[in-house]
Amino acid sequence: MSFICTRGGTVVTASQAILSGIAPNGGLYVPAVFPVLPRDMLPALAGMSYPQRAAYVLSLLLDDYAYDELLQDTQAAYSHFDAHDVAPLAHLSNNLDILELFHGPTLAFKDMALQLLPRLMLSAAKKNGETRRIEILTATSGDTGKAALEGFRDVPGTGCTVFYPQGGVSRVQELQMTTTGGGNTHVIAVRGNFDDTQTGVKRLFTDRALVARMNERGCILSSANSINLGRLVPQVAYYVSAYVDMLKSGELRPREKFNVSVPTGNFGNILAAYYAKRMGVPIARLICASNRNNVLTEFINTGRYNAGRAFHKTISPSMDILISSNLERYLFELCDRDSVQVNEWMRSLSATGAFDVGQAYSEKMRETFSAYFTDDNGTRDAIALGWQRHHYLCDPHTAVGADAVLQHYHKTNELPRTLIVATASPFKFAPDVAGALNLSCADGQDAFACADKLAQLTCLPVPPQITSLKTLPVRHTQTCEKEGMEQALMQAVEK
Ligand SMILES: *Cc1c(COP(=O)(O)O)cnc(C)c1O
Repeated sequence: MSFICTRGGTVVTASQAILSGIAPNGGLYVPAVFPVLPRDMLPALAGMSYPQRAAYVLSLLLDDYAYDELLQDTQAAYSHFDAHDVAPLAHLSNNLDILELFHGPTLAFKDMALQLLPRLMLSAAKKNGETRRIEILTATSGDTGKAALEGFRDVPGTGCTVFYPQGGVSRVQELQMTTTGGGNTHVIAVRGNFDDTQTGVKRLFTDRALVARMNERGCILSSANSINLGRLVPQVAYYVSAYVDMLKSGELRPREKFNVSVPTGNFGNILAAYYAKRMGVPIARLICASNRNNVLTEFINTGRYNAGRAFHKTISPSMDILISSNLERYLFELCDRDSVQVNEWMRSLSATGAFDVGQAYSEKMRETFSAYFTDDNGTRDAIALGWQRHHYLCDPHTAVGADAVLQHYHKTNELPRTLIVATASPFKFAPDVAGALNLSCADGQDAFACADKLAQLTCLPVPPQITSLKTLPVRHTQTCEKEGMEQALMQAVEK
């Protein structure tokens, strides 16, 4: 029993936490203690493949999974990646590296966790004698949905329903989802923004009548959103792997620290970096990069979290988020695991849309985190600069992370070794990337024409996952109001 809940009460095993997604009291599961990455394992890790490294890191965190079992899962999960080393580093300059996390089937970093999650979940069901069908419910701002659909598509004993905000995702993201095959997948467009969609899905999980109805049909509900522990843990592995790679290449001396810049929305990816730091990866500072939805920038700089603000659609749509659901896990650490305190902050957030951690906690937070944001123009400038200066093409999300590194440099006059986390392929957001470079496409918004332009420029092929969208039939057309998500779900699964 080694996972506890941020809001107190429940203590569970890793497999139980993965199976249920969220705790019954609405809290999130976190490790009871952070395991330590033994220093004498580093040489061995250097000689391992990515699936082996990931299985090792997972075995430290997941108490009731064995290394061999995990290795089978990681080997299968990462076998469809188009980079041999799964999460490779691209060396930009003396002390700048990019950690590329977009080599999976959906071209965004969500694959790192979502190719693995169904496997972790099926073993979790077995370990707990759970024979009911697992219905996955997911809200998406664009990338999670497709990654979840690909992960769970035709996995026996599971179903996967994705809700996305209508008009709130890019054309390619929408096509990726609505053309998904598989006999167990459902995609529903919600007339609302991402926060409406996410709040709606959370409500479905705590709706007792719905849960009972699903149980009668022999189903349990679970989540593939980043609140699920099974999403978080695979993400810790790539920070360990990047550290090992930097040591191996000699870029990093033993014990030398480095900064990490993470383009952030739900605070899942950057939280994984924080966990890696707590486990002994020598990360100095975590740079939290946001777009114009800069609620986290303000929070880290002032201690006040205020979701009561205008919502902006940006060219980095997977970060268009005002309620960062994984922040709760960090808040739990910030207040030294005081679940009464976390409950108070969360109650305030749901009642008033805001909370304030006060000056002492606010200062403590800035010992580890720095935060910056940029708007769409700044994002475009960062894409152009990355190409001009380093001949590296990044997607708009990654560009927000790169811009934050630049701002941090201007503020501190220091550029320590820094890892910028690349969360999506530029081909996935081709119109905006091409626009940033002033490339003329036949029609500025035609994703396919723009992808071709990027391919010419970079001498890289357009990924087949993009090309195939031209011809795949649209299979999912269901829509609903934000108040009608329960009905829509029942309609979808009972079809
Ligand atoms: C999901 C996503 C993010 C934000 O990650 P979080 O874990 O939610 O902070 C950033 N970039 C891309 C491309 C994404 O898909």
